[in-house]
Amino acid sequence: MEAICMTKKHACPTYPHFLHGADYNPEQWIDTKEIWDVDMDLMHKANCNEMTVGIFSWAKLEPKEDQYDFSFLDEIIEKVAANGGKVILATPSGARPHWMADKYPEVLRVGPDGVKEHFRARHNHCFTSPIYREKVQKINRLLAQRYGNHPAVVAWHISNEFGGECYCEKCQNAFRDYLRKKFHNDIGALNRAYWTTFWSHTYDSFDQIEAPSPITETGIHGLNLDWRRFVSQQTTDFIRCEIAPIREFSPHLPITTNMMFEHYGADYHQMAEVLDIASWDSYPEWHNGDDADIAQKTAFWHDLYRSLKQRPFLLMESTPSLVNWKPYNKPKRPGLDVLSSIQAVAHGSDSVQYFQWRKGRGSSEKFHGAVVGHDGTENTRVFQSVKTTGAVLQKIDEIAGTVTNARVAVIFSWENMWALDDCQGYANAGKKYWENVYAYHRVFWENGIDCDVVSPHADLSKYNLVVAPMLYLTDAETVANLKGYVFQGGCLYGTYMLGTVDGNDLCYLGGIPAGELKEVFGIVAEEIDTLYPTERQHAEVKGQCHELVDYCEVIHLNGANALATYLDGYYKGMCAVSEHHYGKGRAIYQACRDSGSLKDTVLRQLLQELDIQGNLAGETLPHGVTAHSRTDGEHTYLFLENYSATEPAELVLPGQMDNLLTGETTDLCHLAPYSFAIYRSK
Ligand SMILES: [Zn+2]
Repeated sequence: MEAICMTKKHACPTYPHFLHGADYNPEQWIDTKEIWDVDMDLMHKANCNEMTVGIFSWAKLEPKEDQYDFSFLDEIIEKVAANGGKVILATPSGARPHWMADKYPEVLRVGPDGVKEHFRARHNHCFTSPIYREKVQKINRLLAQRYGNHPAVVAWHISNEFGGECYCEKCQNAFRDYLRKKFHNDIGALNRAYWTTFWSHTYDSFDQIEAPSPITETGIHGLNLDWRRFVSQQTTDFIRCEIAPIREFSPHLPITTNMMFEHYGADYHQMAEVLDIASWDSYPEWHNGDDADIAQKTAFWHDLYRSLKQRPFLLMESTPSLVNWKPYNKPKRPGLDVLSSIQAVAHGSDSVQYFQWRKGRGSSEKFHGAVVGHDGTENTRVFQSVKTTGAVLQKIDEIAGTVTNARVAVIFSWENMWALDDCQGYANAGKKYWENVYAYHRVFWENGIDCDVVSPHADLSKYNLVVAPMLYLTDAETVANLKGYVFQGGCLYGTYMLGTVDGNDLCYLGGIPAGELKEVFGIVAEEIDTLYPTERQHAEVKGQCHELVDYCEVIHLNGANALATYLDGYYKGMCAVSEHHYGKGRAIYQACRDSGSLKDTVLRQLLQELDIQGNLAGETLPHGVTAHSRTDGEHTYLFLENYSATEPAELVLPGQMDNLLTGETTDLCHLAPYSFAIYRSK
């Protein structure tokens, strides 16, 4: 296993501290600039040290084509700097000026129905348009030349929340070129990979190919998957284009773009390759059900963003109170507001940042939460909770840049999700991929175990245990990676559907799981029973009965032994969970979906056998309580979090530790409802 990292990896190396700040739109207040000075005063009072500016400023920066005016940005960056603050500078491509859409309609996106959009909204440009790329590069170059070495600027924020796809002729041609390259200009190879003999849908040339849409071909799963891949690649290529001039004039500053929760349209594992650091916008629906569930799902995404670059990430946006775009918009309750911010830090963030600093007066985000409300004062509960969060970050500043050394990982794959969603079979009402990946991550969260979330192509060698839920699409690289991991001594936990289709979404022949994975797991799967929503089956582990839902796969042992056995159905008495030793490692296969207790029982047993302990070893954590850690290689920093609204928790620490918030040394922790504590090892 890999040696533990001994050095800090600050997200922003030129400012090795926590960032605490917000998206700031001073250009919306350019006619009442006295408010800018009020903002600087309030920023100081809120214990904020950073502002993210320029995200939607293009119309102010280039009011007419090639006529630039950087005066407002000059002024505001100097004001923030004079106030002791730092700046994350955004490129403005998330929304364009009207003149550009008028003069160059090719920048406007075309929908799947073939209709070109008018000037409207945001995040709706064509990623292929050479003119849009040229305009973006030009303004990015000017920004990088002007501000790229400014001492207050600590990072670059590329555009905003990339997403969506364009169906214009330029994008269609780029898709055809993408396929020509992939299939070496051999249309026969494409037809074989896409199984197009089906329904006589064989292509005669690449020119016949159209992007899948409601009015074109959607029945060829390989085509659908490649369109998703193309959109993801084209988006990433657009980001690469944005980055090029910034790298040239501002090579020392890290570059990121803000990613999202459960984002569907782009493979973030691919997108992260062109970024220096990951960052994301976190907007959980707190207080809608059990906050422990919501905290754990949010933790999954924090873990994923930390794992993307294997270093601290930035929480780029979060609301200090509520949002305005969900069906119901509820403010965070007292306590949970600060706790939810510190949660990001517990999972490896080097920042807590909000959208937005000050509420605008008009347009669609006027009721979105902000640090400063329409009252314009520091006298609100929200402002005071932001101030509290800032004070906490100041007290724990030594933790900035520290890393997380997880010994377990859960595999999540965008390609797998796209293929699963597209496949017609199993339960067409919903495959529930995200929910089931969360369910395995939850076991670790509940046990206070740090967990990475990684791609199936990731280097797995540093993990003692890797869980691969529902890994239906398993390309050749993944098969080799998983096999090598187990052979070298890893413990791999696979489930039903593993290794069903290859990278072209073609079913593997010769039985599943794919190819050599049958040897790794020592099983072969025959068929899968899809249960109706109210139907339940059961499996038994050492005399304990566990409830099964949705899927029961019938597997045959071929060298493996059974850890669990089906109790119902025509497969009664057959293996439900298998275990097989392979090389220096072992492979567990869970053939069924359970409602919680089966995976919990098997995984807890495995954790014990592998000597993987939680951050509070020996403690059974109460419901809603979790523990996470970061380290600089010398000290362990322990974060304890309680997401219960009503129940306090008493916890025993692993020895005497320093409480970084109170200064006391103790081996006991009392956590009030909706609260947290942060300790440093001696
Ligand atoms: Zn386009």
